[in-house]
Amino acid sequence: MFINLKNVWRSYSNEGEAPVHALQDATFGIEKGAFVAITGESGCGKSTLLHLLGALDMPTSGEIHVGDKALHTMSEADRTRYRREDVGIVFQFFNLLPTLTVLENVALPLQLQGKSLAEATSSSERAMELTGIAHRSTHFPHQLSGGEMQRTAIARALVHSPALLLADEPTGNLDRKNAANILDLLKDLHARQVATLIVVTHSDEVAAAAGSIHNMS
Ligand code: ADP
Repeated sequence: MFINLKNVWRSYSNEGEAPVHALQDATFGIEKGAFVAITGESGCGKSTLLHLLGALDMPTSGEIHVGDKALHTMSEADRTRYRREDVGIVFQFFNLLPTLTVLENVALPLQLQGKSLAEATSSSERAMELTGIAHRSTHFPHQLSGGEMQRTAIARALVHSPALLLADEPTGNLDRKNAANILDLLKDLHARQVATLIVVTHSDEVAAAAGSIHNMS
């Protein structure tokens, strides 16, 4: 298994209140190259799980392995490196910077890592080709459709060739047509084995397209 969760809990406690268990005793595995839809009713811990897999958060107890990395014991420096190198994250609301072009948005993670402009540009061009947004590279986000904004955000998440792509409701803010386009893109990325895909979704279409469904309710 590429990803292994063993008895993972994420609990929040406030003084004088009963603890809230955002994730309770999660144990499951995901194979390399899989396309997995994470489903379940609101509040069941889907975002919490995604944050843990992205090393944006730490489990209260339990073990999380992604490849050869043990996320539950990693130092802060190693977690930062993991976020930069091993994982890409896509959000429902795209989170593009409005004053940067498509190319500049996609290249930003590499530039923040100190890569040369030439290297950042060539990796960005490859990622934009992969997600079908290369023809809009000089446009600004406000000049794009929702689907094009999400293609840009997915290119940005893939620009450093991560082994794992995490997406939180990637079609949740799109109309039917754009949602279908982004779903086709996810299927294409899976067929090309670009990365292991884990997608939190409420959409039956997205869940049906995934290779497997992990229902957390
Ligand atoms: P989902 O993504 O499935 O809607 P979440 O992972 O966002 O669920 O949240 C799971 C549960 O944990 C919810 O009941 C939520 O209110 C709770 N929760 C999430 N974050 C916090 C926090 N920082 N403090 C307290 N409770 C939280």
